[in-house]
Amino acid sequence: MTKYDVAIVGGGIAGLTAAIYAAKAGKKTIVLEQNKRLGGRGITNKKQGVYFNIGGHALYNGEAYKTFRELGLRLEGSSPSADAYGLWKNQLLTMPMNVTSLMKSPLLTWGGKLEFAKWFIKLGKMDTSIWNHISIRDWIETELQDPMLRNLFYALLRTVTYVAAPDLHTAGPALKHLQHALHGAFYLDKGWGSLVEELHEHAVRLGVKIVTKCKVASIELNEQKVRSILCADGSKIEATNVILTTPPTISHKLVPHAELTALNTCKKQALAVTVACLDVGLRQLPKPKHQFIYGIDQPILLSNHSRDGKPRPAILSDDETQVVSLFKYQGPQTDPEQDERELEQVLDIAQPGWRNHLTARQYLPKMTVIHDFPHLNRNENPGPAVPEIDGLYVAGDWASHGELLVDASVASAKRAVSQLTKARKDIELCV
Ligand SMILES: Cc1cc2nc3c(=O)[nH]c(=O)nc-3n(C[C@H](O)[C@H](O)[C@H](O)COP(=O)(O)OP(=O)(O)OC[C@H]3O[C@@H](n4cnc5c(N)ncnc54)[C@H](O)[C@@H]3O)c2cc1C
Repeated sequence: MTKYDVAIVGGGIAGLTAAIYAAKAGKKTIVLEQNKRLGGRGITNKKQGVYFNIGGHALYNGEAYKTFRELGLRLEGSSPSADAYGLWKNQLLTMPMNVTSLMKSPLLTWGGKLEFAKWFIKLGKMDTSIWNHISIRDWIETELQDPMLRNLFYALLRTVTYVAAPDLHTAGPALKHLQHALHGAFYLDKGWGSLVEELHEHAVRLGVKIVTKCKVASIELNEQKVRSILCADGSKIEATNVILTTPPTISHKLVPHAELTALNTCKKQALAVTVACLDVGLRQLPKPKHQFIYGIDQPILLSNHSRDGKPRPAILSDDETQVVSLFKYQGPQTDPEQDERELEQVLDIAQPGWRNHLTARQYLPKMTVIHDFPHLNRNENPGPAVPEIDGLYVAGDWASHGELLVDASVASAKRAVSQLTKARKDIELCV
């Protein structure tokens, strides 16, 4: 049996990133993915010539984007303009996003505009970590005076975090992510599937072994030390280190006596965030100006991911079909049919007659965007090591130390590999 230095459970973006960094550190590495395809929630499905992600996906200028660039990935795609509308009382009104739209926007009074300008200038350079321990709501209600400006910030921070729980989400990480978003969003040609393909190719070039259709059943230990991985088909893989990139509940199930480890805290404190996603391919847009819409008095978002950007629109279809993505940010109670109706009503307002131009459609009633996020009820940041078990590490979007979404997947993957290589060096020095 081949023995691996590092076995990674899960072939999503966290798993593939961890594999690349482990291989770069000279470790013999294997990735085990339960599905036929790699990518996890980063996959793209092609329907009637249209590329649909698992709901609209944008890369912001954070840890993930910087890491992928450092790795030399091509990342072909486009950054659209920031022009946007706000949906307020079922009316679409110019959203203040830059000086011109701020002057034009009927959403704010002159006093509100002045306050908005002041905050946007400040936001670019401020140290957001001073707000790491208060909620988004506390930040908005204490720092902002204008009532409509408060509404706009609720909408902006909900959009960049995907979380409709301003009483729970900590303000610092959300504001940091807003800073990244203000530097631009990036839509990938052919969706995030192209990113997964690039990560896969990179990992293989570095000698990583990738096994798909391999569901991991448990991690086997020897005196609180990782020994091997048992797969559901009965096969075993010997490994000195394991990085789990599975959700907190699954990670907990895979490890014997996890209730006595930090995995128990991770599972107990995790708050998963879900959205309903409606994606449509439209031959043409009835209202070409309505490309990006923030719900101000309702928790929704609309974005045309193939809209004109620099250097060109993102390529998301084989022809000129435009891909418009909508989200409803969900709370604990969800109603799939009601959510779908609400999203269609928003499309009716933004793109009246859209059904006449429809070429493809995807509705996902409840998708988990993140398995946990930086919130006020967190006792500790997850990982990178599970301290009670030698050789066990965690990564994934829930293992955030302040990063959000895929930035957390990538940052936690790098943290796990860095700690693992450091721990091995310490052991070698002791020996
Ligand atoms: C609708 C939606 C919109 C989003 N939009 C954005 C966005 O705009 N920007 C952004 O940054 N992020 C966005 N995200 C989040 C982003 O997709 C995720 O953060 C990221 O893809 C998570 O990667 P991961 O590797 O951490 O987890 P996953 O992708 O969940 O990977 C985990 C992998 O583990 C595998 N696995 C599970 N159990 C086992 C087992 N027992 N054995 C073997 N394999 C196993 C799974 O099959 C999966 O492939 C969005 C997510 C959704 C759902």
